Amino acid sequence: MDSEQRRLLIAGLSDAGREIVSGAGLYEPVGCPACDGSGYRGRVGIFEILRVSEGIEELIIKRASAAAIRGVARAEGMTTLREAGLRKAAQGETSIAEVMEHTIADVEEPAPAAMER
Ligand SMILES: [Zn+2]
Repeated sequence: MDSEQRRLLIAGLSDAGREIVSGAGLYEPVGCPACDGSGYRGRVGIFEILRVSEGIEELIIKRASAAAIRGVARAEGMTTLREAGLRKAAQGETSIAEVMEHTIADVEEPAPAAMER
């Protein structure tokens, strides 16, 4: 990954995602006979865990939107799937390319007004 690719990649991440990869040495897969040229061996899990705090519980009871629940969970420090993957990449467990392929972007939810029909 050249510096321009890295710059573009980082620009598309959430603030937390940017913090995770900043300063990390990011690895690119390099094949060898042991991995059949893929550069990867085995699999590793990444997880997004929604802890049902009192605030989240109230939202669920009020049948709030998924966006509202996600917003509160994020404010309470929930790590997204992509961020969990970025941590693995920053630890040298996998490549950024794998993380980007298997997770969706951490976008800030649009305001409810944007969903009018
Ligand atoms: Zn190999």
